[in-house]
Amino acid sequence: MSDPARPLPYGRQMVDEQDIAAVVDVLRSDWLTTGPVVGRFEQAFAEAVGARHAVAVANGTAALHCAYYALGLGPGDEVLVPALTFAATANAVAMRQATPVFTDVDPDRLLVDPASVEARLTPATRAIVAVDYAGQPCDYARLRDVATRAGVPLVADACHALGARYQGRPAGSLADVSIFSFHPVKHITTGEGGMVVTDDEALAARARLFRQHGISSDHRARDAAGTTGYEMIDLGFNYRLSDINCALGLSQLRRLDAFLTARRALAAEYDRRLAGRRGITPLAVAPDVDHAYHLYVVALDVPSAAARDQVASALRARGIRCAVHYPPVHLHPYYRRAFGGHEGLCPVAESQAARILSLPMFPGLEPADVARVVDALVEALPA
Ligand SMILES: *Cc1c(COP(=O)(O)O)cnc(C)c1O
Repeated sequence: MSDPARPLPYGRQMVDEQDIAAVVDVLRSDWLTTGPVVGRFEQAFAEAVGARHAVAVANGTAALHCAYYALGLGPGDEVLVPALTFAATANAVAMRQATPVFTDVDPDRLLVDPASVEARLTPATRAIVAVDYAGQPCDYARLRDVATRAGVPLVADACHALGARYQGRPAGSLADVSIFSFHPVKHITTGEGGMVVTDDEALAARARLFRQHGISSDHRARDAAGTTGYEMIDLGFNYRLSDINCALGLSQLRRLDAFLTARRALAAEYDRRLAGRRGITPLAVAPDVDHAYHLYVVALDVPSAAARDQVASALRARGIRCAVHYPPVHLHPYYRRAFGGHEGLCPVAESQAARILSLPMFPGLEPADVARVVDALVEALPA
């Protein structure tokens, strides 16, 4: 039953008894980390997203850092990153001491605009990053075309898009390297966790190296081989994901289809209830994608970000916690200071970021909750 006073976050996990039992099994086993469940989760995940290799890591940000390392990005390299994303997409570029160059998005879907990518290519460009904003895959045919002509790899930050498809192909198989996050608001959770996926064996091996201090073997591999020596080949991190986390991920992955079905049904319910409402425009969806609906985002007809924030406060007063995805990355104080970010750099991202609101969207939400959110939103909008 839908409780009209129940606080509604914008997203949350759904953990069941099977998930809990899977985690408890690992706690009783010999390997809490670098054990067999890590490989099992990686293999099942690779299959689910149509990729040859998957490397489990500590979180989505670590996955980005591993992917950028694997591609050899470093000082002097420019990496094209959409302005409308979670800061981590760009932060991991800066962690490699490379330079994030921000690209603009299209106004209707908020996906990176291939024309903006093309316009910001320079001889120093070393990679193009796409973000499947809200769970809708980008225009990969056009992005691939730009990347091929520029001779640079295409990276997909697919943190929003687990289970999405573009022209029938799953997110995770659309770029040279793709990354995912298993934060509790994402499609499946491991508490914290992330994954790097690729068809390229050498890239996967480099991601594995970076995950493990830059050391070429792990504890269990040495145990199995009966050796004690090892070599550190490059400077890496401890970005491992434990077997405890992977057991949760493996169990959650079994319910991915059910989670997607629930998210899509809720999106259809929002679409139906918002159809024809003045002042509230859901994001457009391209005809050749299956949307994964990590987020359900609407653009409001409001004069300013402050007016949008007032709408969000009115909803919050009724227990409905919306979010803004995202403040444009280049306008954060760090990016202004370190990389010269300024207003006007990505005008579409900037103007749309002042109008958008992410409404509650997670598998445990009910159709009656959607009605409650829409009613509250309509009431909160300035006349
Ligand atoms: C969640 C997210 C990340 C980072 O993932 P963490 O697991 O929180 O580190 C990166 N990019 C996007 C687009 C995300 O939504």
